Amino acid sequence: MSAFVGKYADELIKNAKYIATPGKGILAADESTGTIGKRLASINVENIESNRQALRELLFTSPNALAYLSGVIHFEETLYQKTSGGKPFVEVLQENNVIPGIKVDKGTVDIAGTNGETTTQGFDSLGARCQQYYKAGARFAKWRAVLKIGPNEPSELAIQQNAQGLARYAIICQENGLVPIVEPEVLTDGSHDIKKCAAVTETVLAAVYKALNDHHVLLEGTLLKPNMVTPGSDSAKVAPEVIAEYTVGALRRTVPPAVPGIVFLSGGQSEEEATLNLNAMNKLAVLKPWTLSFSFGRALQQSTLKTWAGKKENVTAAQEAFLARCKANSDATLGKYAGGSGGGLASESLYVKGYKY
Ligand code: 13P
Repeated sequence: MSAFVGKYADELIKNAKYIATPGKGILAADESTGTIGKRLASINVENIESNRQALRELLFTSPNALAYLSGVIHFEETLYQKTSGGKPFVEVLQENNVIPGIKVDKGTVDIAGTNGETTTQGFDSLGARCQQYYKAGARFAKWRAVLKIGPNEPSELAIQQNAQGLARYAIICQENGLVPIVEPEVLTDGSHDIKKCAAVTETVLAAVYKALNDHHVLLEGTLLKPNMVTPGSDSAKVAPEVIAEYTVGALRRTVPPAVPGIVFLSGGQSEEEATLNLNAMNKLAVLKPWTLSFSFGRALQQSTLKTWAGKKENVTAAQEAFLARCKANSDATLGKYAGGSGGGLASESLYVKGYKY
């Protein structure tokens, strides 16, 4: 069994390695039209294209922030949008050495006969869509699979379906020149302790890497986007050092060193929590053969969104908030974050039960 080495192999390896550059990370700005609508509603802004464009322009043209990013994940609409001055967003990013990426999944659906477990849709025309996105400048992709912890969950069926789905998606991306971000998210919902989350995360990741191998995926040209290992949302919180130990432990047991980078999702943690946890992982004195970085959505945008509130006069302040978060997370990838960036807004919990992207 060996990896498929297609015509894009060198490019995939180069781009995956670049995205995993220490000191840089990914901005996940790929909220679907429905999801961004919820964000905009929280600041009383209407969910119309011009407002979605304005928010993304604020982020992508934020002075100095792009230096801390190696990639930005787009939703399809945004991949083709331009600044108000008429420059395609893709060009703005490329000129700043930030690689454009694209969300290619079409959300989750329930698996019949399970207790609300899901699988991810989006295989129809996936190869053709990847080709179009490549032409538009995208060089990496994202597909989110979701697992939940319950008395009997995740079921073996959900683990296998989602692992197979991620592997099938990954190889289709690689055949078409896109680095696949493999995202098996174990949700934080529940009253379980951190040990349970660690055990489930290990089982899920082991199944995912078995499937990636079975599907001949070239691991050097992939990235992993996992949850951090934490206690359930209804359990008492633990210190970043504890989260770091369990998370890095689970990854060391399951993720091959051929994978260049692990870019965490924030999963409802506050901005400050997510940064402190990432920092603690990078400070942990054990062998870590991959870069540990961020691919945050909510934990990179929340204080920016609140500061902006949809008002032109707030754009500069909002961009400063975004820069502060990007810099904080960049420091955290190097284990050099001192804490306290962003003040009160950055500590607000972003947890939403049963969260749907
Ligand atoms: P959060 O960081 O908001 O969890 O989102 C990251 C993401 O892209 C989930 O698919």
